[in-house]
Amino acid sequence: DSDIVARLGGDEFVIVLTGVEEIRLVANIAKQIIYSLGLTYKIDDHELHSTPSIGISTFPRDGINADDLMKNADTAMYHAKDEGRNNYQFYTDEFNKIAHERMTIEYDLRVALEKNQFELYYQPKIDTLDGSISGLEALLRWNHPKQGLLMPDKFISIAEETGLIEPIGDWVLNEACRQSNLWHRQEGLSLKMSVNLSPKQLCDPKLVERLHEIMKKYKIAENKLELEITENAVMTNTEQAIDQMTAIREAGVYLAIDDFGTGYSSLSYLKSFPIQVLKIDRTFVRDIEEDEDDAAICRATISLSHDLGLTVVAEGVETKAQKDFLTSHKCDSLQGYLFSRPLPASEVLQYIKKNLNS
Ligand code: C2E
Ligand code: MG
Ligand code: MG
Repeated sequence: DSDIVARLGGDEFVIVLTGVEEIRLVANIAKQIIYSLGLTYKIDDHELHSTPSIGISTFPRDGINADDLMKNADTAMYHAKDEGRNNYQFYTDEFNKIAHERMTIEYDLRVALEKNQFELYYQPKIDTLDGSISGLEALLRWNHPKQGLLMPDKFISIAEETGLIEPIGDWVLNEACRQSNLWHRQEGLSLKMSVNLSPKQLCDPKLVERLHEIMKKYKIAENKLELEITENAVMTNTEQAIDQMTAIREAGVYLAIDDFGTGYSSLSYLKSFPIQVLKIDRTFVRDIEEDEDDAAICRATISLSHDLGLTVVAEGVETKAQKDFLTSHKCDSLQGYLFSRPLPASEVLQYIKKNLNS
């Protein structure tokens, strides 16, 4: 008699509760709604249930007109979805701040390329046999005009969602190869350069053509360029991904599986991927000394990879004990703060020269 239930369209509904004396009661109602909608119901032979996400805004705290109340309930609902659905969330200013920051980043990201705000840092990978540098990984940084140096975790996912990752990723590929070529001509260096490839780029039908073009332009020798892709990128569209990887390999480019152990980690699939390198994620390396399970995973991954003919790189090596453990188990290369943080081009060149002389 007193409340309003309305269907806005699609699967969105609005419930207006009036005369609520205590916020606590609203939470109870939200719980009841989730419970009721979660009960199984039968359609034909199917047992179905739904997992609603509820966002709640309250008058007058979160808005004094319908527009603001609806907008803020919507923001809270997206937060409920992010939290895994089937829950309710009250609107808070914090959500608004997060949403606002995201929008700012997205907006600024659109002009970052043309304003030349990106920069590549390089992190050396060290060969465990002789301590030489076995390659460099190019890591993207954004010199934001207001926020300073931004790390990829602040903007890569937004770039992925908005599709901006394609032009940005293309810039990275070109820039890493340009730098390689410069070091080759000016310093006589020929190091293997690794570039991270986003899942979107891996699906791009123009990728291989573009690789050929860039390698020709910068005279990149066979097997001096490596692309790092995550397991998840391969597993989402496996057959297509394998075709693309095969074509990349035929172009003379190395392929590495990045962050191994954090995704599907399907060892049986590993065999069917045309990859040459496997990178053990740093979460396993981190606790190698204390956690017997992590140590066992690292040992097993190294030995299995070797059986499959793959080279193994360990990420995030920060201590001498980690280095010693991985070296004694014949991990091929190590990457981490123990040796060097990712550095701007000029600084990494100093590091390389020092390493050559020692
Ligand atoms: P990733 O490819 O796994 O890169 C390794 C990350 O570990 C880098 O973080 C590096 O700075 C960090 N790291 C290296 N050694 C250590 C260590 O000893 N300890 C700790 N705690 N961390 C270490 P970064 O540069 O923030 O990059 C994060 C992720 O962003 C990368 O993970 C990669 O997935 C992504 N990314 C970076 N550049 C690009 C890019 O050009 N394109 C795409 N698509 N993704 C990129
Ligand atoms: Mg990587
Ligand atoms: Mg990694």
